[in-house]
Amino acid sequence: MDYVTLNNGVKMPQLGFGVWQVKDDEATAAVTKALEVGYRSIDTAMIYKNEKGVGEALQATSVPREELFITTKVWNSDQGYENTLRAFDESLERLGLDYVDLYLIHWPTPQFDDYVDTYKALEKLYQDGKVKAIGVCNFEIEHLQRLLDECDVKPVLNQIECHPYLAQNELKEFGAKHDIFIEAWSPLDQGGEVLQDEVIKSIAADRNKTAAQVVLRWHLQNNTIVIPKSVTPSRIEENFDVFDFELSEEDMAQINEINRNRRKGAHPNDMNKR
Ligand code: NDP
Repeated sequence: MDYVTLNNGVKMPQLGFGVWQVKDDEATAAVTKALEVGYRSIDTAMIYKNEKGVGEALQATSVPREELFITTKVWNSDQGYENTLRAFDESLERLGLDYVDLYLIHWPTPQFDDYVDTYKALEKLYQDGKVKAIGVCNFEIEHLQRLLDECDVKPVLNQIECHPYLAQNELKEFGAKHDIFIEAWSPLDQGGEVLQDEVIKSIAADRNKTAAQVVLRWHLQNNTIVIPKSVTPSRIEENFDVFDFELSEEDMAQINEINRNRRKGAHPNDMNKR
């Protein structure tokens, strides 16, 4: 497992396990399997409605708490300073933890203009030692810039949709400049078209690896944090088995060329669900 060092000195596994669309009663088995395989970082959210199931796996594992890296997120309808503090306590209780490693704002929902207040609640949680690091999801450059201008603690990362068909080069450049990691959600394009791409498939055949492994390797070599999701035990193993090969510069360049700036999820400025 490779680790990255976040801008506040905290170490985070570069490869983690996502659990969006995993039902609460399936989450315990999926997370237990992931921990057995070697994953140490788990990415959930209040809105996934599986913090309890994730928490059950965390209580049962023999992996020490300090080796785990647990992320959850404040949902849009809980934004605002006081609401966020309350929502955090509720997440903590469902997870059965006394701190989380990373707490994220799920979407900026700029139409409501309260993500700065929400972020100030995250700063308070960080200062109180209830979270080891704070960050955001789905923030565009203008949203990140406001946090840099109006808040004290820099976000450690920005979790955004990112895969070879949505390379997110501008946000990557901004992140690199400000020491804010990119964490890719839907890193495998939700198991979609990217895994059928001829360029990816041909590199995979040459390397004797799968298309998913090549895509994950592309993320890792771009210094991106990844959190692939699977409820299929063989895929949970496959997605972790990416540390024994490297893509060449030419492979990386070829994959960079298939970018289409094509999203599967919402554009952050269009997500106004509360
Ligand atoms: P992924 O890109 O991780 O793809 C998951 C899908 O791909 C599942 O259908 C899975 O199927 C399939 N899959 C997994 N591994 C393989 C493989 N090796 N070969 C072929 N198919 C495979 O998509 P997600 O959208 O789940 O993103 C990952 C995580 O990012 C989420 O789980 C969540 O934690 C986070 N996220 C955050 C968002 C945000 O707004 N902050 C938004 C969306 C996601 P199966 O499970 O059946 O094996």
